[in-house]
Amino acid sequence: MLVGKPFGDNETGRKADFSNLLQPCCVRASASGQKQNLTRGDCPCPTGQSEIICLPFNCYFTRVRPCHTAWPRMFCLAMSWTNYHSHTHFCDGKFGPEAYAAEAFRQGLWAYGFSSHAPLPYDVTWGMQPESVATYLAQIARLQARYRGKLELYAGLEVDFVPGKLGPQHPGIGKLGLDYCIGSVHFADTFPDGTGWEIDGAHQVFLSGVREIFGGNVRRAVSRYYELIRQMVQQEPPTVVGHLDKIKIQNEGGCLFSETESWYRQEVLATLQAIAQAGLLLEVNTRGIYKQKTPELYPSRWVLAEACHLKIPLTLNSDAHHPREITGQFSYAASVLRQEGFTHLYSLYENRWQPFGFTEQGLLPDAG
Ligand SMILES: [Zn+2]
Ligand SMILES: [Zn+2]
Repeated sequence: MLVGKPFGDNETGRKADFSNLLQPCCVRASASGQKQNLTRGDCPCPTGQSEIICLPFNCYFTRVRPCHTAWPRMFCLAMSWTNYHSHTHFCDGKFGPEAYAAEAFRQGLWAYGFSSHAPLPYDVTWGMQPESVATYLAQIARLQARYRGKLELYAGLEVDFVPGKLGPQHPGIGKLGLDYCIGSVHFADTFPDGTGWEIDGAHQVFLSGVREIFGGNVRRAVSRYYELIRQMVQQEPPTVVGHLDKIKIQNEGGCLFSETESWYRQEVLATLQAIAQAGLLLEVNTRGIYKQKTPELYPSRWVLAEACHLKIPLTLNSDAHHPREITGQFSYAASVLRQEGFTHLYSLYENRWQPFGFTEQGLLPDAG
C-alpha cells in the first residue's frame, strides 16, 4: 500500500486541498505525455490524512514519477489563481520581480505574469526606462529557470496605445518576444503643450484636460477614450484588453456622467463588439476595488453582463503594484462573474490560453 507523503513533501511546496473541487478530471502522466482518466478505484491517494483532504476522483496530477513505493509519486494542482497584470520596480511597482514570484509560489498560484509599463512616449514617472527592458526580461528569465516545475512564470508588458507612437503591435514591442501583452489606454490625446493627458491620474489634471482638450465637454473626452480603445483593438490588437472602463475612476459618485446614459452605453457596447470581433481576451481588473478607488470592478457589472452575451473570453487580473496585491479581491470578482453568467476564465497555462472553470475559491484544475 502507499507509503510516504505524496503531497506533504511535494516539490512544489503546495498543500493540496481538494475539498472544494466539484468535478472529476483527468490525470496527466508527464513521463509519457499521455492523458488517462482516473476512476476512484485507480487513484493511489491517501484520503483523510492530516489536514490534506484528497478526493481521488477529483485529483489532477501534473507530475507523475516513480518512487520507491512503486506507486507513482504525485504532485497535485490544487484550486488556485493566476495573475498576469503586475508592476515591479522596473516601472511603478514596489519590489523586484522575485518578490512577486515568491508570493505567487507561496499562495500556490499556477502561473504568474509580469506586465511592467512599456517605455512611454511621454515624460511620466510610471513607465519603464527603455534601457531597463533587457534587464527586466533577463530577470524574469532567471526566475523562470529557478521556478521551473514549481510555478509557471511569463514575461509580458502593459503597452499603451498612443496612435502613431506606441501600441501592442509596435515593432519595438514585437521584437521582444513577449509571452503576452496587455493593451491599455492611459492617455487620450495631448494638452496644447504636447503633454499626454492621463485618464487615470490626478482628478484636477483630468478636469484640466477636459477643459483644454475637449472644450469642457466630458462626453467628448470619455467618447475619445473609448474610441482609442476601439482603434487599438482593431489596428494593434493586444493579447488582453486592459481595464476597459478605467476612466470611471474619475467619476466618483457619478460626478461627471451616469453609466446608464445612452451615449455612454453605446460607447462601451461598441467597444465590446470590437473586442468580440477581434477575438481578444478582456481583462477583469480588481485594482479599483482593493484600492477603494471605484465601487465596481473594471469593467462594471453591467458591462460584464454584456460581455457574457457576446461570449467574450475573460482573464482575471489584479494589476498588482505590491506582492500583497497579487490576488486582491479575486474571490469577490469570481462571485460577480458567476452571478453575471460566466462559467470559465482564461489563463495562460502550459504556454497557451485555456479556459478553466472557477469558484470563489479559485480556478478549477479541469481545463475546458
Ligand atoms: Zn494600466
Ligand atoms: Zn497596470
